[in-house]
Amino acid sequence: MNVALVTVGDELLQGETVNTNAAWLGRELTTTGADVVRVLVVPDEEDAIIRAVRRAAEAWDAVIVTGGLGPTHDDITMEAVAAAFDRPMTENRIALEWIVEERGYDLERLTAGTADLPEGAEPLHNEVGVAPGARIENVYVLPGVPDEMKAMYRSIANEFSGDQRYRAKIPIDEPESRLVPRLEELRTEFDVSVGSYPGEIVVVRLIGEDPEEIETAAGWLRSRSEIADRASAEEHVQPESGDEEA
Ligand code: ATP
Ligand code: MG
Repeated sequence: MNVALVTVGDELLQGETVNTNAAWLGRELTTTGADVVRVLVVPDEEDAIIRAVRRAAEAWDAVIVTGGLGPTHDDITMEAVAAAFDRPMTENRIALEWIVEERGYDLERLTAGTADLPEGAEPLHNEVGVAPGARIENVYVLPGVPDEMKAMYRSIANEFSGDQRYRAKIPIDEPESRLVPRLEELRTEFDVSVGSYPGEIVVVRLIGEDPEEIETAAGWLRSRSEIADRASAEEHVQPESGDEEA
């Protein structure tokens, strides 16, 4: 399953906020076995959101949108998604009842429009904040606040599941150029995808669906390389865990 992420917010484009939602979702989805094929960052502008959501929904199996959900005037994501599907916004009774009954909010004091969603959308409950998310066809709309986004994503994570992936990280204290032929051989010999990330040392990351294959490939590489001390605890195969911060 391929998935595009559409992250909404001027602050992301301006570098005021680091796009940790995209990083976190990218990691989670990859772990689950989905392929993240695009990450788009769009401003808080209705037309930009409409265009991005329409195109992504047509091109890919699923789209996850984050940011701009609240009922304040600068939060226009839900309206834009409704417009992308040519649907009006209507008060969603299921979402409203959940906010009042499960979260104990006083109906009278809720900001008007809090539970407005595109007509026919399935509400996604917000267990941390107030603004509900929604699923409309293959588009999932989640909040921008990272903790709210994560909790809501977890409630839909099984919809993206494929074959669980495993990874190993091998820190190597050699110049990346020297690793090139070794990594090429690794790619040919083993059924794993290989990434190398240079910094002070080079971290080679193996990822694949068979933990034994990963372990064997990691052992092959380790036995031929100068292993760096740092992060050596991370070398062994571990199922991807969603609890780490990206
Ligand atoms: P609220 O209802 O609180 O307004 P929201 O769903 O409308 O939430 P935003 O207004 O877009 O979300 O952002 C709320 C907070 O979450 C801001 O501090 C914003 O910087 C942060 N945030 C939004 N998008 C991201 C992102 N992609 N990565 C990390 N943080 C984000
Ligand atoms: Mg907001």
